[in-house]
Amino acid sequence: MGRQMMSMGGNTFQFFTRNPRGSKAKAIDPQDAAALCRLMEEQHFAKILAHAPYTLNPASADPKVREFARMTIKDDLERMEYTPNQMYNFHPGSHVGQGTEEGIRLISQLLNDALTPEQTTTVLLETMAGKGSEVGGKFEELAEIIKRVELSEKVGVCLDTCHVHDGGYDIVGNLEGVLSEFDRIIGLKRLKAVHINDSKNPLASHKDRHEVIGGGHIGLAAFERIINHPQLRGLPFYLETPNEIAGYTKEIAVLKGLYR
Ligand code: FE
Ligand code: FE
Ligand code: ZN
Repeated sequence: MGRQMMSMGGNTFQFFTRNPRGSKAKAIDPQDAAALCRLMEEQHFAKILAHAPYTLNPASADPKVREFARMTIKDDLERMEYTPNQMYNFHPGSHVGQGTEEGIRLISQLLNDALTPEQTTTVLLETMAGKGSEVGGKFEELAEIIKRVELSEKVGVCLDTCHVHDGGYDIVGNLEGVLSEFDRIIGLKRLKAVHINDSKNPLASHKDRHEVIGGGHIGLAAFERIINHPQLRGLPFYLETPNEIAGYTKEIAVLKGLYR
């Protein structure tokens, strides 16, 4: 994965810990993990980001579904220790009619069960588009989850540009305002990563359909401001656009061209 990403011009990558729509994970090859650690150090990669499967729902009403999420996250965090000091991102979940407060309670409970003082991985809550009953579409919800986590020093936030835009945060017209709101509610020190995606839908559509960079409602001019913003420019950016290798290579080149 590391070498393929480098051939596209990047210096970090995101990967799924297992089948994004299922549960199966391959056995870890410790030698392969060690080789990746060496490559990351030699090539000065930014932190790599693991992504939990989409199918997890830590906020489910069904205890079996919650237990599955808990087991998967615990197992993933154990695996992450083969590549120490990196990051792990997950979707907070959907409260499926139980209400946002109950969702927040269940998500923070799961984190309190899964996090350990020994882990070197930072766990990131992803900002969501607020589709259906998703928790995490508002900064206040993420802040409230973090507030209830005992080992909150292990927790950060990953800002997904498509999601916040679809969630109603105007990063195109008022990036400064959105970031100061993030700072006031969550604290910019919690912001550890950015998913950089354009959106197929307009502001506040609550849709979550990613578009290639420059091809959607966010647009290249806004991305230029985002990647160069003093509060964001030092963060790792991960593409999640609907693309193939050639498309990613081009997007990375375009973004590097805009980076000052
Ligand atoms: Fe995600
Ligand atoms: Fe994302
Ligand atoms: Zn998305």
